[in-house]
Amino acid sequence: MREPGLIQSGSHTLRVGARTLVMGILNLTPDSFSGDGLAGGVEAALGRGTAMVAAGADVLDLGGESTRPGAETVAEVVELGRVLPAVERLAGDVRVPISIDTRKAGVAEAALAIGAGVVNDVSGLDFDEALAVVAARAGAALVVGHWRRRRADDPDDVVAWVVQGLCESVARARAAGVARTQLIVDPGLGFAKPPAVSFELLRRLPELRAAVGLPILIGASRKSSIGRVLDLPVEQRLEGSLAAAALAVSGGADIVRVHDVAESVRAVKVADAIAREWSELPPTWVPIYVGLGANLGDRAATLSQAIRELASKPGLRVIRRSGLYETAPLGVSDQPFFLNAVLEAETTLEPPALLALLKWTEARLGREPGPRWGPRPIDLDILLYGDTHVRTAELTIPHRELWNRGFVLAPLAELQAGLAGPDGRTVVEWAGLRLAEQDVRALEW
Ligand code: ADP
Ligand code: MG
Repeated sequence: MREPGLIQSGSHTLRVGARTLVMGILNLTPDSFSGDGLAGGVEAALGRGTAMVAAGADVLDLGGESTRPGAETVAEVVELGRVLPAVERLAGDVRVPISIDTRKAGVAEAALAIGAGVVNDVSGLDFDEALAVVAARAGAALVVGHWRRRRADDPDDVVAWVVQGLCESVARARAAGVARTQLIVDPGLGFAKPPAVSFELLRRLPELRAAVGLPILIGASRKSSIGRVLDLPVEQRLEGSLAAAALAVSGGADIVRVHDVAESVRAVKVADAIAREWSELPPTWVPIYVGLGANLGDRAATLSQAIRELASKPGLRVIRRSGLYETAPLGVSDQPFFLNAVLEAETTLEPPALLALLKWTEARLGREPGPRWGPRPIDLDILLYGDTHVRTAELTIPHRELWNRGFVLAPLAELQAGLAGPDGRTVVEWAGLRLAEQDVRALEW
């Protein structure tokens, strides 16, 4: 089985789940809010980038347009002139992926062509939708940020509002052909959001993460919300930024985007050790795929709730989920349609303990004993547990119906496309076969 949590980034691979990654910021602008702009200097960028990698950065984010409040948008040629030489130089010289921080398809395309592997679009494809096509064609990783004005008909709840916007961006990216496993979302702290809203998003990160179901990038470093609390200028926000980074880790962030790499790497390591169950004897985390189904109540909300509950349990870390699929019920036909998804996670629990946790979670979410295949607010099944086979009275792994069900295979194919089935055909091929016979519909948000 392919390792879980992989995100292809050009010739490099990022791996989320096992620990929080640190993204170092390189601003190639004359007017960056953080006061660290490296306008024009390729050598300066190379020097700072190399130092960040030596200090433990997992990815470098290069930007040529300041997106601080009130900054002017820059022309594409200007932005290209600022970033391309540095992208090319760093992509050739450092051993981590290069991310291009831009809202413009043209800039992304040029940067990807000379070695960048990630596109970080703070506008979430709002500024230039063609950017998604560029990312898809290159097979790049894509970060979609949330940067929207609040409108009258938007949800009152801050998390619901941001989740809705992020899911719209994800749907656009998916429609343009970006693989789900290439996507990362960023709630956009400070982007058209007052400090209290940014703090609420950070405080409720587990909820947000479970609802979107994708790896999360958090950028809080040196932002004005920190300055507001401390009443300190941008060059005195290091400790505040580290506090925010630690809490982001605790809330389930997968990547933190920071100016001060060396300090952040240390803070994040300790936060990770606490949040991700560090131990002297490194435990073995086994990749698992869990099938989720619901056909009563607010189905999507219950699936999110189940993911959130599971993510909060010791011995289990959630990486991401597939998209949602709607399916006509099997067996008992006089019941509502099902909503299905597959969850990618890792566990230290043995299969029987994992089954017990899933059953306990089902019960907490209102599942009552009832007929097999009958209506239920939630159904959680172990589809795969590493490459392990289990066959007991209680448990069959791989799940006994896995290869027969389009509504399981289609979402699984988003996460483990190449996994071989019983006769050597892949999950994708099996999904194709089953979907030809079954009524399964991919739902966009
Ligand atoms: P289904 O999920 O097939 O619609 P139920 O959830 O009602 O049906 O059945 C659950 C029972 O199936 C559990 O009590 C469990 O003992 C058994 N079981 C066998 N293999 C698995 C598995 N891989 N994942 C979850 N439950 C399983
Ligand atoms: Mg079940």
